[in-house]
Amino acid sequence: MGWLGRLFGRRGSGADRGAAPDGGVYVYLRCNGIARRPCGEPLRVRIDPQNDLLEEYEGDEERITGYTVHKDVLGTWCQNMMQLTIHYDADRREIGRQAEGATLIDAAEYERLRQETRAEGIEG
Ligand SMILES: [Zn+2]
Repeated sequence: MGWLGRLFGRRGSGADRGAAPDGGVYVYLRCNGIARRPCGEPLRVRIDPQNDLLEEYEGDEERITGYTVHKDVLGTWCQNMMQLTIHYDADRREIGRQAEGATLIDAAEYERLRQETRAEGIEG
């Protein structure tokens, strides 16, 4: 195989499309804790765009108006059940996300919280 074959043989690997190598999309949460017990556990939730998106239809028509992802998330520090919901349009572009029982954070905040808690230990 010459240089042309190598050049074109690499197409379609999907590695340059901005997603994680395994195709997942990661969402970061901070646990709000339960009554009178603040928590703050950083959590990473993996969304699989191939399997986790539920189709939404408008009325009785068979026209897809968008997609939704629902995830139940249980942390390890407390027994707070968190819910993550993400909405997509018909072209699978994200149009909004919300969390119940948790606060949405970004990857940098997630890493910072993880390092803080690692340094302090998680007892207490
Ligand atoms: Zn918690």
